[in-house]
Amino acid sequence: MMTDDVYREMESVVGEENISREPAILDSYAFQPFHRAEPGSWIHRPAAVVLPGSTGEVQQIVKICHRNKVSYKAHSTGWGAHSGPGKEGVIQIDLRRMDRILEIDEENMYVVVEPYAICAQVQAELMKRGLNLHIIGAGSSTSPLAACTSHMGMGFTGVSMGYSGRSVLGVEWVLPDGELLRLGSLGSGSGWFCGDGPGPSLRGIMRGWAGYDGGLGVFTGVAIKTFHWPGPREPEVEGLLFDTKTEVPDNFKVFLCYFPDYERWADAYYRIGEAEIAYIMSKNPIGAMIWAFTPHLMRKITDMPAIKTALKAAQHGCHVMIAANSPGDLDYQVKTLKRIIEETEGVLIDVKPPFESMLWWSGVRVSAVQAIFRPGGTFFVGLGGDEAVDNTMLQAKFGEKIKQDFIDRGLIYDDLADVMWGGLYEQGLFNHQEEIMIFNARDPRQAKAPEEFAKACARTAVEEHLGGIGFALFGGEKMHDLFSPVTSDYYKWEKKIKETWDPDDLSNQTFR
Ligand SMILES: Cc1cc2nc3c(=O)[nH]c(=O)nc-3n(C[C@H](O)[C@H](O)[C@H](O)COP(=O)(O)OP(=O)(O)OC[C@H]3O[C@@H](n4cnc5c(N)ncnc54)[C@H](O)[C@@H]3O)c2cc1C
Repeated sequence: MMTDDVYREMESVVGEENISREPAILDSYAFQPFHRAEPGSWIHRPAAVVLPGSTGEVQQIVKICHRNKVSYKAHSTGWGAHSGPGKEGVIQIDLRRMDRILEIDEENMYVVVEPYAICAQVQAELMKRGLNLHIIGAGSSTSPLAACTSHMGMGFTGVSMGYSGRSVLGVEWVLPDGELLRLGSLGSGSGWFCGDGPGPSLRGIMRGWAGYDGGLGVFTGVAIKTFHWPGPREPEVEGLLFDTKTEVPDNFKVFLCYFPDYERWADAYYRIGEAEIAYIMSKNPIGAMIWAFTPHLMRKITDMPAIKTALKAAQHGCHVMIAANSPGDLDYQVKTLKRIIEETEGVLIDVKPPFESMLWWSGVRVSAVQAIFRPGGTFFVGLGGDEAVDNTMLQAKFGEKIKQDFIDRGLIYDDLADVMWGGLYEQGLFNHQEEIMIFNARDPRQAKAPEEFAKACARTAVEEHLGGIGFALFGGEKMHDLFSPVTSDYYKWEKKIKETWDPDDLSNQTFR
């Protein structure tokens, strides 16, 4: 339990300015409206918040918790209910003081970061060296360390740069008892360059499809693969969203592609992946986009059946950004894309100014997604298993039906039932499509919708064999019981790992 003595012991580690149990400060951590199925915006108030500034301090804090049987929960930027306490009496370990880029190895193409070095900061430094990193769809204010070690990892750049869980190299990990474990080559004193040795290769224990969400100790450093950046070393950009002003480099092109049906959309996805021509690629659903960027307009459109029908014709779409290394390369990639679109009977729109700047920069910096909070204050997601495109196409078909039912019952906003956001990964090796629903968090009836929606999506995924667990992850124990028997009993194994590594269950996992 968190006693005055425990508090004072922690204070002696981090200094009195880096620990607090002031109710107002603690409430600022407990306000977490995002990533929760049940209504409301408040999670459990932490018993205290502590801000260690180094790996050594993290170890000391975790050891104090371990000795005194106090639960703790680490987060990096702390962007959702899954980042805060799942019960009373938990100490929040806020890692914002650990915000350094420790190393950029240009030759071996990796970057080593602490938890609060955010994607925008890391990307800006990498670009100066002709490199880039995969940024998750949540945007560049997130922590690449959290995506690589502890949470998920989908995003727009996955087509050329992969999924976060596949980019992890050396890892520095404070275990639930406070001991330090170094994974991969780091564990044999050979530096950060490899995740799987020489040295312990425990990536599968550390994370599978998704990580433990703070349930297996605290990660204090990680080396992440970087990728070629053929753009400007220091892009000059002004403004945001529609007001973005920047020069789109000549070797980049942004296209919008639309297809007549799901099947041809899926064919094009396979072929664009195989041709290895996309630097960035994602499905940006038309209804959700209009809600996010012009919510007042979309409110009017929902009462205009003819316009809704016209917009729905653009349902099977995606945006593709091409990045080339020479004029010849650009010519080849554009011709290849045109041919694929022609053969799949699609429509290709060559995006021109002023929208070109916005789509280019919001793709590269992943800087526009937060707009999805504008219509109703939050959103929720179902389905989303990472699978072959044919399977994600089925997820989209079922997801559309589920969502239309919720729209018809007035439980969520009418986004044309077209909200399947998702990206292609590793040049088409797998795909993900998540069924986003936007709703009014302040309307008591709509606020209850996520729970029912989560269940409907999970049931359908199991009954129709729609692949992995996807976003059912946030539904807690009951969801795992539903998915685990049809997914190699993953939850049984996950629990065994947790019981072995953290027998007192002190490293709080929030939803599990
Ligand atoms: C608009 C929007 C879009 C999104 N799109 C995507 C997407 O495309 N892909 C995707 O993967 N996610 C997506 N998310 C989810 C997003 O990844 C999470 O919300 C995440 O919390 C982002 O913040 P963060 O990276 O700083 O991680 P945090 O919020 O800090 O942490 C995420 C989880 O990891 C744990 N954790 C963090 N750091 C550590 C650490 N150092 N040691 C141990 N545990 C730790 C936390 O306890 C928490 O459970 C989206 C979220 C939003 C709001």
